[in-house]
Amino acid sequence: MTVAIYPGSFDPPTNGHLDIIGRAGCIFSKVIVAVLENRRKTPLFTVDERVMMLKRITAPYQNVEIDSFRGLLVDYARMKNAAVLIKGLRSTGDFEYELQMALVNRKLAPQVETLFMITNNDYSYLSSSIVKEIAAYGGDISAMVPMEIRDLVLQRIRANGEKQQF
Ligand code: ADP
Repeated sequence: MTVAIYPGSFDPPTNGHLDIIGRAGCIFSKVIVAVLENRRKTPLFTVDERVMMLKRITAPYQNVEIDSFRGLLVDYARMKNAAVLIKGLRSTGDFEYELQMALVNRKLAPQVETLFMITNNDYSYLSSSIVKEIAAYGGDISAMVPMEIRDLVLQRIRANGEKQQF
């Protein structure tokens, strides 16, 4: 049984994230989607809210689990007996950053493999920040986030008003 971890901020989860989760779920016995705590100082959603949204949108996937973690990803991977870290790649910018992370993680934990999954063409432009920015200016985000959480995102953006920074 090969367990894979898909880490990220997921603030909020997007269709791009969900696409990676679904594809990874077809490859591995178990995929743990792990919400990283404390990476951004001013997230739109709390970690608990992000976990709740991810649970809602991945409900149909039997082998997907949602969790959160703080500290080093490789320590969390060891704790979960995970052999694989999944990262999504949208651009060469993602690649530059993720290559360094993958090399560092291999140094720290050689037994944990990083696997890159190339974005679905339909979602290559998508990031959580883009979703927040478009929603803040009244744009239509219905093709960008799963239907089950769209209203939550819109409500939170409206409630935050001018305060939100992307
Ligand atoms: P972002 O705010 O950029 O969406 P996250 O930290 O939430 O960032 O992303 C978590 C992981 O999902 C990263 O590996 C990221 O590269 C990947 N990812 C994010 N959006 C997409 C997308 N549209 N297609 C493929 N992978 C993605």
